[in-house]
Amino acid sequence: MAEGPSLAAIEEEARRAVASAQSLAALAEIRAGFLGKKGSVSSLLRGIGALAPEERARVGEAANVAKERIEGFVRERREILEREAHASALAAQRLDVTLPGVRPPRGHLHPITQIERDIVAFFHGLGFSVEEGPEVETQWNNFEALGIAPDHPARDMQATFFVDGGHVLRTHTSPVQIRAMTGRQPPFRFIVPGRVYRNDRSPRHSPMFHQVEGFMVDERVSFADLKGILYAFQSHMMGAEVELRFRASYFPFTEPSAELDYRCLLCQGAGCATCSQSGWIEAGGCGMIHPTVLANCGIDAERWQGFAFGMTLDRAAMLRWGIPNIHLLFEGDLRVLEQLG
Ligand SMILES: [Zn+2]
Repeated sequence: MAEGPSLAAIEEEARRAVASAQSLAALAEIRAGFLGKKGSVSSLLRGIGALAPEERARVGEAANVAKERIEGFVRERREILEREAHASALAAQRLDVTLPGVRPPRGHLHPITQIERDIVAFFHGLGFSVEEGPEVETQWNNFEALGIAPDHPARDMQATFFVDGGHVLRTHTSPVQIRAMTGRQPPFRFIVPGRVYRNDRSPRHSPMFHQVEGFMVDERVSFADLKGILYAFQSHMMGAEVELRFRASYFPFTEPSAELDYRCLLCQGAGCATCSQSGWIEAGGCGMIHPTVLANCGIDAERWQGFAFGMTLDRAAMLRWGIPNIHLLFEGDLRVLEQLG
């Protein structure tokens, strides 16, 4: 046993090596280096065959004791490394329940739907109910019953899409007035939101757009009622009291007729880009329902009177969100729509 390192030296070397192991894999390698088949303790034991028998037993026993001790170092170190590995795994998976969550993306209603629902809710509060009609209409409902005869110049104002069978894509929501009033007796008040179509395309005009129309028929309905309702309505839409202006106008289905403007809230009437420097913004058309329209629906125009008004929803949406081009509303571009919540 004079050659090679002593057991005590091997044990000390093993203790240091084990203490320096930084991972379970490194520890296993170190253990094999001392206690494996080719490890230093095993090599030392292989050499004892050359010793005297009593020496052999003493060295063999001492080697077993050293083995036990080295196993003890390894076990202790393994426990420490396992605890550390467990702790770092826990730290990596740490969940802070007080952190704000990550919200999943959430859609919202289309701006036109938002405006439409807003308008319908407002008029519900005034006792109006919603009336709807088809987008493919008869020419009687879309034109004739509303006082627009085949040779009437107003037909040219409404560039019409004709479909098979002499029908048209409705050019306004007014045919719903005819549908709603025919076969019914007043009093009634209706609000009519819907899509309409005209053969017209520009940054401010889309071949398909949205109107909302309202009308009320009763025994004592006057232009003053119309003004009061439109004043409340426009103030609601703009979120502030508005100043209205009625300009005498002409529609075949109302008499008298007026176009409605409100004073631009951005410039208070001084003139700006939004109001085209005029100080006023067009809000739609209105008037007292023409007695002929009432008669066309079988309603006694001597007894009943009514008013009607209409506006373009798309323009209201463009104003509310500052949208420069009507087509942005209908192209379905999420980059645009996400900004219009
Ligand atoms: Zn302005």
